[in-house]
Amino acid sequence: MSNWPITVTQPFLPPLEEFTPYLREIWQTHRLTNAGPFHRRLETALAEYLGVEHIALLANGTLALLMALKALGLSGEIITTPFSFVATTHALWWSGITPVFADIDPSSLNIDPEAVEAAITPHTTAILPVHVYGRPCDVGAIQRIADAHGLKVIYDAAHAFAVRDSGGGITRHGNLSVLSFHATKVFTTFEGGAIVCPDARTKQQIDLLKNFGVADEVTVLAAGINGKMNELQAAFGLLQLQHVDTAIRRRREIDAFYRRALESVPGIDCPPLPPDIVWNHAYFPILVQPDYPLSRDGLYHRLRERDVHARRYFYPLISEFPMYRGLSSAAPARLPMARDVAKKVLCLPIYPALGLEDVTEIVDVIAGIG
Ligand SMILES: *Cc1c(COP(=O)(O)O)cnc(C)c1O
Repeated sequence: MSNWPITVTQPFLPPLEEFTPYLREIWQTHRLTNAGPFHRRLETALAEYLGVEHIALLANGTLALLMALKALGLSGEIITTPFSFVATTHALWWSGITPVFADIDPSSLNIDPEAVEAAITPHTTAILPVHVYGRPCDVGAIQRIADAHGLKVIYDAAHAFAVRDSGGGITRHGNLSVLSFHATKVFTTFEGGAIVCPDARTKQQIDLLKNFGVADEVTVLAAGINGKMNELQAAFGLLQLQHVDTAIRRRREIDAFYRRALESVPGIDCPPLPPDIVWNHAYFPILVQPDYPLSRDGLYHRLRERDVHARRYFYPLISEFPMYRGLSSAAPARLPMARDVAKKVLCLPIYPALGLEDVTEIVDVIAGIG
């Protein structure tokens, strides 16, 4: 195998020389941040790429979640999934909102619309679903529930960059969609994030909030925060965007290779590709079933011994962390599907630079012949 550990993901870095013209431009203009030229260009380019009209760039995905909640003026209770990265629920906690966990659908691995409906109370103001692994939620059912009960919907689309359904880009759904451009994501600006907005007014409001609420030299219109993406990040994003389709194609090849090779391994399930979806292959989750000779953790450690760092995304469930486990919706008996999946899931390495020789060796370890 390679000289250093194989991690679950690795950022795609274009050749260094390709970045120098961008750096030169920054050195010439002395524009480092505050909605500079690269920031504007990246917003335009991303809107076009994602097939949306309005997008606001932010310093990271967590701030983007916080600002989305603030922009919609949400409070009370928000229904969300326990099967996600902890930032999803932390954003609610930081906003003084009570998270209400609803169980997942074991086939989509996303929040179960029926469980959402059952969790609604008079205090519910919104639903915060996650397109886990970039696999789309049941957006139709979620919107019907939201409409019937007068709730807002914010999608945590941190994993779902470039994902499209039959009608277009997945981030067009809900009141707002939030993206993360962290180094571990399919498209990265080192750290970064964005909110896809339904109209120019919402984008304006977010642009105001992310710059301290400052409208001009003497006017402060809102108690905003510093959520700005800087010019270095935005410039890198523009360069990444030129390579992202190639990077996703490479991920697709690795996905297909894993799928074919693991098909015949008893006790290893690969959740099928989401139907009618152009997927980004952000992750390659497998489910280690009881008839596999090792437990999920056993397999995780076996791979570690071979310097392959697969990850147990998402274990433990968010609802099991100390700041949330006292909530009544966090009771394990209410989340049987999420608990079952969290116990079985393992995300295998997938990233553009991962060689097929390495994928073969990973598969051999899993098949018990490596
Ligand atoms: C990465 C991630 C976030 C947080 O994004 P950052 O840019 O790291 O702040 C939020 N939700 C999910 C599901 C994520 O995977």
